Amino acid sequence: MLMAHKPFRDFEGGLANADGETRWFLMSGDPIFSRNGRFLGYRGVSQDITDRKLAEGKIQKLAYYDHLTELPNRRLFRDRLEQDMKRVTRNNSSLALLFIDLDKFKEVNDTLGHDKGDILLIEAAQRIRKHVRDTDTLARLGGDEFAIVLPEYGETGNIDRIVQDVLQALEMPFELGGGSVGHISGSIGIALYPKEANSIEDLLKHADQAMYAAKHSRTSRFNYFTRSMQEEARDRIEMMNDLRHALELHQLEVYFQPIVDARTGEIVKAEALLRWHHPVRGMVSPLMFIPLAEESGLILNIGDWVFEEALRNIARWQENTGKLVQVSVNKSSVQFMHSDQHHWHENYLKSGLPDHSITVEITESLLLSESDKIRNQFNFFKEHGIELSIDDFGTGFSALSYLNQFDVDYLKIDKSFVQKMTTDSSSKALTEAIIIMAHKLNIKTIAEGVETEAQRNVLKSYGCDFMQGFLFSKPIPSDEFEQWLLK
Ligand code: C2E
Ligand code: CA
Ligand code: CA
Repeated sequence: MLMAHKPFRDFEGGLANADGETRWFLMSGDPIFSRNGRFLGYRGVSQDITDRKLAEGKIQKLAYYDHLTELPNRRLFRDRLEQDMKRVTRNNSSLALLFIDLDKFKEVNDTLGHDKGDILLIEAAQRIRKHVRDTDTLARLGGDEFAIVLPEYGETGNIDRIVQDVLQALEMPFELGGGSVGHISGSIGIALYPKEANSIEDLLKHADQAMYAAKHSRTSRFNYFTRSMQEEARDRIEMMNDLRHALELHQLEVYFQPIVDARTGEIVKAEALLRWHHPVRGMVSPLMFIPLAEESGLILNIGDWVFEEALRNIARWQENTGKLVQVSVNKSSVQFMHSDQHHWHENYLKSGLPDHSITVEITESLLLSESDKIRNQFNFFKEHGIELSIDDFGTGFSALSYLNQFDVDYLKIDKSFVQKMTTDSSSKALTEAIIIMAHKLNIKTIAEGVETEAQRNVLKSYGCDFMQGFLFSKPIPSDEFEQWLLK
């Protein structure tokens, strides 16, 4: 009897008051007994700890939920995923893990500002949430990455439906206030447990690899994990690691492709094109490694080096041949976003080369950027004697009104037009129209990928100013280029 009524210390209990509001108390008590040993009750202290409890709840929320979208964060996501994995193992069922990455979100952030970017993320979270059940976990993993855990998804047809709905929802325009509208899309990677992974690490990795594949696919916005993806991912990581050392190990080289004056056939310009001599893989195409360099940020150092190589070679050729060749250097949007060109300009000054020795090639889409940072960089180039070329013209937005705003010097007509020109009449008409329009705007034209005499003759008849392509020469090492100049 006596034993049942023990003292208690620091017991936390919740009591609802008349308004239905729960107050929390911290209580300690000692039993009191009558002289003959009958239990009378407890005597002790209690303290209202409701405020502390609320604070704890908030801390919990901070620790486990994303403050922007109020979705579970990476930590809670992992906890839930682990629990779900245990449960489906017990029940002999399966679950699907979906990684969702927003495409072009970075552009919205960079061009419209972070506040608008935040609004878009909140709205995107709400749109995705509409398509998942309460028993599913939707989490924000960080940045523009979301994840969904679908336990007991039934058949894969159900996953496909959710995926399609989510992708469609994300493609609708986002009203961001103040008349700003954001356009994004999503890429989704899917991995199944336990079919394709037996640990949480594997499952996460596979969903990520599938997402990467979806992001880089032209045909599909979503992808299920496959074994070959795993190999490709391993390959990519290996290449990325090798690329980190390529510059210091002197494996990179800049080749130059001659650009000729259409009227005289004389070499007057060249395009600097990167080459990677990989010790095992041999020559790796820039189409393969430039995207890796952009992803890893290595493009910044590599791009600076290409620019210096261009300057060095222009000076060298001038000294050895007496000819001044203008070199064009490709600069990708990543380079514009993450570095400024002031050190390029300093190096340019130091080289002592005359104005207009360099042109920078950018893609059309950069002209559409609303970022002041990027606009200022174009203007800075122009003010400091560096010319501006629009690369691959005709493949992107072809926003003609922007050409004027930026005082563009050259349009490079994309090789896809040039090569279809002699067989496809609309490509032919377009090529002619581009040249006429460019000339009206005082912009010179360079045709890329000229491979045949027939192409050259048509381009010449349209008044195209310069030509570049295998008909004249492939990209070649600097020494060889110098020999060409002497010929
Ligand atoms: P791009 O700027 O469009 O460069 C022209 C590409 O067309 C080069 O491919 C060139 O070799 C190829 N080409 C030239 N003439 C012909 C032709 O007659 N027929 C055909 N079929 N192709 C021709 P490459 O050298 O493989 O470079 C691929 C891309 O890699 C470049 O496309 C450029 O976007 C990028 N890239 C190369 N070097 C750099 C660099 O230093 N920095 C950056 N950011 N990108 C670079
Ligand atoms: Ca180019
Ligand atoms: Ca090009």
